[in-house]
Amino acid sequence: MLQVYNTLTRNKETFKPLKEGEVSIYACGPTVYNMPHIGNYRTFLLADTVVRTLQYLGYKVKLVMNITDIDDKTIRDSKAAGMSLKDFTDKYSAEFFKGLDMLNIKRASAYPRATENVDGMIELAQKLIEKGLAYEKGGSVYYRISGFPDYGKLSKLDFDSIRIGASVDVDEYDKDNPRDFALLKASAPEEIERSIYYESPWGKIRPGWHIECSVMAMNSFGPTLDVHIGGVDLIFPHHENEIAQSEGATGIPFVRHWVHGEHLIVEGEKMSKSKGNVFTLPEIVEMYGGEVVRFMFLSVHYRKKLDYSETFAENAKNNYLKLKETLDNLEFALKNVEDEPGPGDLETLKTLPELENRFREALEDDFNTPKAITVFRELSRTANVYLETGKNMQVLEEIHALYKRFSDTFGIFAKAGGEEVPGEVVRLVEEREEARKIKDWKTSDAIREKIKSLGYIVQDTKEGPKIKKSEES
Ligand code: AMP
Ligand code: ZN
Repeated sequence: MLQVYNTLTRNKETFKPLKEGEVSIYACGPTVYNMPHIGNYRTFLLADTVVRTLQYLGYKVKLVMNITDIDDKTIRDSKAAGMSLKDFTDKYSAEFFKGLDMLNIKRASAYPRATENVDGMIELAQKLIEKGLAYEKGGSVYYRISGFPDYGKLSKLDFDSIRIGASVDVDEYDKDNPRDFALLKASAPEEIERSIYYESPWGKIRPGWHIECSVMAMNSFGPTLDVHIGGVDLIFPHHENEIAQSEGATGIPFVRHWVHGEHLIVEGEKMSKSKGNVFTLPEIVEMYGGEVVRFMFLSVHYRKKLDYSETFAENAKNNYLKLKETLDNLEFALKNVEDEPGPGDLETLKTLPELENRFREALEDDFNTPKAITVFRELSRTANVYLETGKNMQVLEEIHALYKRFSDTFGIFAKAGGEEVPGEVVRLVEEREEARKIKDWKTSDAIREKIKSLGYIVQDTKEGPKIKKSEES
């Protein structure tokens, strides 16, 4: 049974979605004002790992990830770049998606944008005012923390000991309580000049950051969702505030399992511009390749810090290449070996289900990918030993099928004919599978044509769809 560490209870808990067999996940996405760094992608990959693991375990999964396309940073930097907010955030949204493809991260069901959900935010603010949990001051709307006794239940911070002025924003001196946070901010004159505002009952406003996630999560899934994902830095105040907003309005639990990923650091230090140790994804993908970077991220449990260095990446690359070599050898044998029974066949066939059990148990233990990689390496050793003398097709096929189940769960070795299949094609094939599952043949045929136009063909086999480069292209 799947056990997931829940930040809310600080315990590993048996995972139980609201609807049996179906999981709703909301993950905080990027603020699109610059190139995301490799740390951001570690957290985006965590969402993908949770999705793939749940799918491997047989759940139907829906992931929604927001795009923060309006906030202080996007407004400030679009101005500096001499661009409209929309053009500026579109540019960095495109970079974000390119990065997802580099890491073979499956697309979420939806990527709602903050600017497209402001009506819902105004409605939520209104509701909170009606409940006495929010108030307007100077054209901004603030959340009244004193009205929500559960405030602090996620971060477990001792608010009495937080010295005002030290860690609390005192600039917004017009608030009733310095810890109250803005739900909607009165637009500044220069924002209005740039048409960055929305009409509201309190005048021209723009959304605060926290309210967007409450609104987009509840719009996607209703008042309660199964899993909410983000980096540890979001526990406070962002997720604490999401709980206050959502539960304040609905009176029922907002999230069943809070999953937070630890940070990526570089050679023992926090990434920071001043230290010059901030890496963008294309920089390291160029050095190691997307699959190696992905494998490197998976080699550390998500609740531990990942200390990136060249040595660490090289080590991951070696381990990745060893696993890849075994796969190549298996595929070579499947094409070239004459089928023949041998003495090691039964023993090998018996080992495979044991390995799969251990692989599943590792992932069921709070998504323990490093432990699962250890099992994967054992499978690789088993395969190599068998390949020395074994020639039984059934055994080779079963080893290969298990190898593919492991690698698909990790999202690696997504190749056709030795060449990397573009993320776009992989995504379309997945979409087509979804359509086929619900017997939506019209959509599935349309997607097949789209895939063809990109130079690939899908073959439906017993083990699932196979992607090949089409001859004509
Ligand atoms: P942002 O674009 O800053 O809103 O961040 C997007 C995601 O990346 C959030 O879930 C953050 O918690 C996460 N994040 C930020 N810095 C790091 C880091 N160094 N390592 C891992 N995740 C991070
Ligand atoms: Zn968020």
